[in-house]
Amino acid sequence: MKIKLSNGKTLPLEMHKIKIVQPTCLPPLRRRLRAIEEAGYNTFLLRSQDVFLDMLTDSGTNAMSDNQLAAMMTADDAYAGSESFFRLAEAVREVLGFRYVLPVHQGRAAEHLIVKALVKPGDVVLMNYHFTTTKAHVDLAGGKVVEVFGDEALETASSCPFKGNLDLERFDLAVHEYGTERIAFVRMEATTNLIGGQPFSLENLRQVKARAAALGIPLVFDGSLISENAYFIQQREPDLAGATLQEVLRVMMSQVDLFYMSGRKSAAARGGLIATNDRALYERILPWLPVYEGFSTYGGMSTKEIEAMAVGLREMVDPAVASSGADFVEHFVARLEEAGVPVVTPAGGLACHVDARRFLLHVPQSAYPAGALAAAFYIASGVRGMERGTLSTDPDPSGADVLADMELLRLAVPRRTYTLSHIEYAVDRLAWLFAHRELIGGLRFVEQPPVLRFFFGRLAPDGDWGAELARAFAADFGEDC
Ligand SMILES: *Cc1c(COP(=O)(O)O)cnc(C)c1O
Repeated sequence: MKIKLSNGKTLPLEMHKIKIVQPTCLPPLRRRLRAIEEAGYNTFLLRSQDVFLDMLTDSGTNAMSDNQLAAMMTADDAYAGSESFFRLAEAVREVLGFRYVLPVHQGRAAEHLIVKALVKPGDVVLMNYHFTTTKAHVDLAGGKVVEVFGDEALETASSCPFKGNLDLERFDLAVHEYGTERIAFVRMEATTNLIGGQPFSLENLRQVKARAAALGIPLVFDGSLISENAYFIQQREPDLAGATLQEVLRVMMSQVDLFYMSGRKSAAARGGLIATNDRALYERILPWLPVYEGFSTYGGMSTKEIEAMAVGLREMVDPAVASSGADFVEHFVARLEEAGVPVVTPAGGLACHVDARRFLLHVPQSAYPAGALAAAFYIASGVRGMERGTLSTDPDPSGADVLADMELLRLAVPRRTYTLSHIEYAVDRLAWLFAHRELIGGLRFVEQPPVLRFFFGRLAPDGDWGAELARAFAADFGEDC
């Protein structure tokens, strides 16, 4: 929740008290340099003990509520017919309005099953933007992702409130090019994760649904970050200013044929689900659930997490919860803008995104500027972010790099996990890094895995810039911080 201060500025307020804490420590500079070298300059390969603030992702790292933890104790461990599942199904019905629910162990498992049921080789899937795991599943099924975003989606500095909108003219062009028969589904990702957590408007969702329905194309909705998209609609779309988040969500869901989500983000529990009111779609997916995930009343999740997800779904429509990440992100972005650091605007859901291309004008895309910036920021701060750029984009079949649309350092803000002083610390160190940006060089692959290379790939710096950066840092702050 944001509150107005007497100086006219706004401040995001934590609408919770901290009851349980987990210590974290700031490893000294020398250890940070060693750790990033041992990790092959890939922040995914750092050990948690070497990380001060973990801004890699908001996935599974959100603080849980007292009610979520209490519900976990009531879990029913029955293999089949678990009461925990029925409590989850009831929460899905109440919050999202869907009758049929398929639990899965996390979001990408939902993508696997949906793609398996709906995509044949040669098919295309239209999207407002892809997500790494979604695209991997479509590719593995012999399909192709066609992105139909608007021009504003890729403008990092913008005031457009809905950069996640699907472009309707390009949708029509894609239908013309591929033909309705080949389009397996159109997928709307609620806050486009890879391009700055940018939302789409309800108006856009309605227009997409109307077009798709007229052609008999199902609308699939990735709701992993749904509470943030609903919050932005409520804040930014004039017609909906008076609506509650629950009302916004129900109107959104009325446009959806097949819903899925990772429960690890908005719902703050480690799991995922697929939901629909279309019995035929449900029945196409159901047989595969026990093959890949588990029986239909647990789907690979622990029953404790199922209970936590049921509570998390109900809690995410509380404005204090839905805004907890987004308002911190907004503050983070505003403070970095004040410091002159290039960031994606407007602020989106899930994370503050630093524009590595503008930050490191001297590092070409082929040398992975966003990956270099993630490593450099870790050295300077002990804060772990994630590369979202060319490194996170797998090469084409010939093995050539595919240059990403954007080069972003994503600094996720797990919901209710960090405090404002943590954000201020990250801002300060990034501002320092920006002033010393000429010290940062590029990266090259030393070991490159064949799929989703960003997870396990190992890289090396061009030259010895990591050590040079550490020397400059020590000169300003000493060796011990
Ligand atoms: C995280 C995420 C996924 C994948 O979910 P996992 O639980 O990490 O498997 C899919 N889509 C979006 C938009 C996400 O943010």
